[in-house]
Order: sequence, then structure tokens, then C-alpha cells
Amino acid sequence: MTKYVFVTGGVVSSLGKGITAASLGILLKKRGYKVSIIKMDPYINVDAGAISPFQHGEVFVTWDGAETDLDLGHYERFIDEAITGENSCTTGKVYSAVIQRERSGGYNGATVQVIPHITNEIQDRILRVGEDKDVVIAEIGGTVGDIEGLPFLEAIRQLAGRIGRENILYCHVTLVPYIAASGELKTKPTQHSVNELRRIGIQPDIIVCRSQYPVGIELREKIGLFCSVMPDCVFEAMDSDSIYRIPGILHKQEFDTMVLRKLGLDYSVQPDMSDWNSFLEKYDSLNGEITVALVGKYTENKDAYLSVNEALGHAGIANGVKVKIMPVEAEDLEKGDPQDILSKVDAILVPGGFGQRGVEGKIAAAKYARENKIPYLGLCLGMQVAIIEFARNVLGLSKANSLEMDEMTPHPVIHYIGGQKNICDTGGTSRLGAFPCELKKGTRSSSIYGSEMISERHRHRLEFNNQYIELFEKAGMIVAGVCPTGGQVEIMENRDHPWMLGVQFHPEFSSRPVRPHPLFVDFIAAALKNSRVKN
Ligand code: GLN
Repeated sequence: MTKYVFVTGGVVSSLGKGITAASLGILLKKRGYKVSIIKMDPYINVDAGAISPFQHGEVFVTWDGAETDLDLGHYERFIDEAITGENSCTTGKVYSAVIQRERSGGYNGATVQVIPHITNEIQDRILRVGEDKDVVIAEIGGTVGDIEGLPFLEAIRQLAGRIGRENILYCHVTLVPYIAASGELKTKPTQHSVNELRRIGIQPDIIVCRSQYPVGIELREKIGLFCSVMPDCVFEAMDSDSIYRIPGILHKQEFDTMVLRKLGLDYSVQPDMSDWNSFLEKYDSLNGEITVALVGKYTENKDAYLSVNEALGHAGIANGVKVKIMPVEAEDLEKGDPQDILSKVDAILVPGGFGQRGVEGKIAAAKYARENKIPYLGLCLGMQVAIIEFARNVLGLSKANSLEMDEMTPHPVIHYIGGQKNICDTGGTSRLGAFPCELKKGTRSSSIYGSEMISERHRHRLEFNNQYIELFEKAGMIVAGVCPTGGQVEIMENRDHPWMLGVQFHPEFSSRPVRPHPLFVDFIAAALKNSRVKN
């Protein structure tokens, strides 16, 4: 029988429920359990594809092409399992499925209601993820007490009746705030949020307290007493300098042992965290620092480029160096001389992005990198702007488009896939998910990857116009990777530059702490070389 752990959150959002869920996931996986993880998001959007990164942070793309919440990125980085769109469940998905079924007569004349139809649909989706697993960890997005989260909480409450309470564990993550005036940690918000959970019929088994300071035994006893859990089922998750330490912090308190005990599973085998721990050891012995400019347009939201930040960090650790990421607002590069902002950095990265705003600034960043021989990595839009820059300033195609100008430019170097035109720049007709890419022998990319065929994830609706391949190659910008099934240009390299490379895909989504992505590792190595030359 598959066991289910539900992770809810109380008091405030952004408590680190996702990291708690992911940490439990890795601890159980490293004990030999088959684990999967699912995120339930109470918003009405069907997926995260069209939500602004300002509001929601990054959109994480799974290999099967789902546009999901950034917590799925944490799950993949921690558990190191390729998860799919099924691991993401939103109110939008649930209602779409129920309404579709109703329209096709699937409810036999019944009045379709939140209970039981919506709640059943939620349960079915959770159970489906567990079909070939030992343990499923399901994180319920939002905070207990939110109106939109209620159907999810009701669904997981009912699930105890459907599959047996003994197969379910409810884990509640709350905040234990520190009140400076009295110099105390306060448990009242935790009590209130547990009451809120109980009001809808869920008694948590385990409470994880997020706090700035250690939650001592007296406080745990108090929380235990008021919330009807044993004090040894109250855990602390103190703020940490790295999320990657959380599995170790929880394991030290025997969190994973308690989860297994409560679920009636064997806890005699300890998790083998050797690769994870050696990653942390390297993290603790970094030497020196390099600066990478991240030229984006959502830089105000620190989560907007989360996977890129993580991938850069992993690559830094692989190179033994701390990577300082300097967020640069693309539009600032349009206003003045890019030199003023970029002269201090060791490398430049232009990540993905949608729409016209900031594109000229990103083109300016690519120009600066090319002319000054600064290592440059362009991801998706970052490759496209490097191509436009090359077209304008090396090939002299003065009209080379700036993405949205398709209709004005008869033969844009970057054009919409399959003849689509100026439609909303996100949504269903994007090229999404993993596609193969064949690497050309003798290119930098083929030596970085060390293989001829790779597979990477995509999310775009513009691409390189293949009629320009010859012209670009003659001038030194060569095609290093092509999709063998569709012929799309996937990688371009500037042959006359120490390290200038653009990829149409998103390698950041597949970098792991214990398996840093080779492109990022080589990019940071080039940045390190550049910084040594400079100093
Ligand atoms: N807006 C560009 C496109 O649709 C780039 C997308 C991206 O960077 N993810 O192709």
C-alpha cells in the first residue's frame, strides 16, 4: 500500500513547505524508498505558463512540457527524479477536467458539486501519482484558512476514509516568530493555524516550526500540548544559509525516522547521503568569488530566475568558486553605456524571457560580451538576442528584427515557429518540453557534453530562421546543435570568441547539486579564467 504524506502550511506563505517536502523526499529516497511528490496549487490558472514571473517567480518546465510552479524545480533538484505534469495539480486543472466530463455526460445526470466531484478528482490525481511508489509527498500550496485551498484540504481529509488513516501522515509547517520587544519566540500563531486545520477535520501528526532561533524543548512541549501532538513530533527548521542543508538539519532531529514510524514503515536503514554531503563539503570550502551579470527584466523578484541561479551556484561549487550573481535590469542597459554596468563582471548570462520590453538592453549585453570577449551564455531569448546582435553588427543586416517586428521585417533572423505571427507571447502553441539535439563534432558544445545526442527542455515560440545558417557560419557564428526531428537550430557558438554560446533550450532546469549541468560548469570555468586574466 502506497503511503501519503501531506504537507500543509500555516500562519504565512513562503515558509519553505516546498523545501520541507523536498527534503523529506530525498531522505526517504536515500533510504531506498520509491518516492514521488506532487504540488497542489489552489490558483485557478490551469498551469503557471501565463502567470507573470513578477507574481509567481519562475515557471518550471518539466521534461514532458508542463509549465509548473517553481517548487517542482526544488523537488527535481532534491529528489533527482524526472517528474512530469502529473506532479502538478491546480484548481484550474481539476475544474477543467470535471467540467469537461460533465459536458460529455460523464456524471449520469448528477448535480456536479465541490463535494464529492471536485474533491474526488483531486484525490484521483493524488492517487495516480502513487501508483508505482512507496511514498507520495503532496504539498498543498497556500496557507490553511485560504478560501481557495479548502477543497484540497477537504480532499485530503476524506482520503483518510478512502485509503485508511494509517496510510496517511499530515505534516503542518508553521511559523514560530521571534518578538524582539519581549525577546521571545511565540507559539500562538502555530496554535491558531493548527486549530484552523482541526476545524476542517485534520489533526496534524507532525509539526515543523520555521523560526529564526532554536525552538527549545519547553516550546515544543507547549506546542505539543496545545496542538495534541507528542513533543518529539515537533521539529524545528531554522533559517539556513543554504536550502541544501535542510535535509541534514531535519535528519539530525530524526524527522524522517518519525515520518516512517508514524506510517508503519521500516526505519532501520539510514539514508545514504554521501553524494549530497560531499556536495555540501565542497560548498563549505569555496575559494574566491566571481561575478556573473544576470541580464533580465524580472530581477526585482528574486525567484524569477530561480533555476538559473541554482544552476550557476551548482557550477560554481563544481569549480570551487563562489558565484556572485549581479542582477542587471535589461532596460538600464538601454539608457546609458553598458560599459558602466558590465565592466565589473567576469561573465554575462542572458536568461529566457517573453515580450519586447528589455530586448534592446539584452542585445546591448550581447554586443558588449562579443566585443570585449567576456564569456557569454544565452538561454533561449538569450541566444536569440545574441543572434540579432550578430546579424546587425557583424553581418550588417541593419533591419535584423527585434523579435516583435516580424511583420515589418520580411525575413527576420528570429521568427515565429511554423509561421505563427505576433500572437500573445505565451501559451499553448509554444514548443514545450524535452526534444533531442544532435551536436556537431568539433564544436565546443560537443566537447562540453561529451556526447553526440542530448535532450534538453524547451519553452519558446520563436526560433532561428534557418535560411541564414550559411551567412552566419561564414562569419563565424556556427550552428553547434540541431534538433534531428524538426531541424531547429538549438545551439550557436561564436567561433571567434573565447566563450560565447547560445542555446534555444533551458539547461537550467536539469542542473542538480550533485550533477551540475556541464554547460554551466564550463561557463563558470571560462568566467574564472577571465577573472584571473583580469586580475
Ligand atoms: N520569447 C522568446 C520565444 O518565445 C524566448 C522565450 C524564452 O526565452 N523562454 O521564443
